[in-house]
Amino acid sequence: MMSLSLLELQQLLGVLKYLDVGLLVMDRHFIVTFWNDFMANHSGKAARDVEGQELFALFPELPQDWLRQRVETVMALNTVTFTTWEQRPHLFAFSSYRSLTGRSSAMYQNLTFMPIAGADGSVDKIALVVYDVTEAANSRLALEDMNQRLSVLSRTDPLTGLLNRRSWEAMLAEEYARCRRSGRTSTLMMFDIDHFKQVNDTHGHQAGDMVLQHTATLLSNKLRTTDKAGRYGGEEFALLLTDTDAVQACQLADRLCTALAARPARLDGKPITITISAGIAQLTADMGDAQAWVKAADDALYQAKSAGRNTTKVAS
Ligand code: GH3
Ligand code: MG
Ligand code: MG
Repeated sequence: MMSLSLLELQQLLGVLKYLDVGLLVMDRHFIVTFWNDFMANHSGKAARDVEGQELFALFPELPQDWLRQRVETVMALNTVTFTTWEQRPHLFAFSSYRSLTGRSSAMYQNLTFMPIAGADGSVDKIALVVYDVTEAANSRLALEDMNQRLSVLSRTDPLTGLLNRRSWEAMLAEEYARCRRSGRTSTLMMFDIDHFKQVNDTHGHQAGDMVLQHTATLLSNKLRTTDKAGRYGGEEFALLLTDTDAVQACQLADRLCTALAARPARLDGKPITITISAGIAQLTADMGDAQAWVKAADDALYQAKSAGRNTTKVAS
């Protein structure tokens, strides 16, 4: 699209005066020559106070460099350009009344920059159209937020808030590949609550659930942000410890056992003390895939159970 003629501009201004979009016209020095009702209403600055003034003097908070760059491009190329709220949420800090909620919120804006030709045909002004797209932006953002939450939910075990088995296994596969590429050290730890069936039998299933939650909380407090903790099965947990060797993993297991002993879950004020058995496997060259890694940790866990429980074994 080429630039508008002055006549076309006048027609456009006539129409846009009543439309629910913002329109301002300015010259290449950012002196405003037209300011419609929409702009006046939302900025609180009337046309007579704005017209003839420099835009940046009126609105010092505007992103000058960005706007100058835009205007230069539009004038030099003699072409219409658009920007959307996704690129820049707004140019003018207006608020928008939202019919849906009856509340106002920051106005999201799409912008159109149009070159305007003078009598001799050369571009000497620019029209800027400001569209209020708040409703569309807000519903899109709400949708994205919802999708984000759904995606977190689908990765999470609802009882403990840890990763569920499927997403933990996906993390494991990634970490396995990463370690194979970079040769870095990572260690797996699987642990299982000892005699957990007795907890259910003695205190009830709900108390059992509470113990599982409590265990997950104590565990989470001991982890680094890069570690990945998952609920692998009923009362079995799996930890992926990045940049960690077997010795460090044993120290973590010890700290977790100490915490479980010192701060047991409580039911009606009475402690329900549990112990865990853990198996630890540092990734080694002979493990052909992620499953082999899990099997090594699981075998070590089995040894810990066979050795009488409440202990940690490292895969040999
Ligand atoms: P071991 O020391 O050999 O691990 O003995 P255990 O009793 O912990 O193991 P077992 O596999 O015999 O029993 C596990 C119990 O965990 C049985 C099952 O009902 C219980 N369980 C599994 N998932 C849940 C859950 O989500 N909530 C509750 N409350 N109990 C669960
Ligand atoms: Mg158990
Ligand atoms: Mg078990």
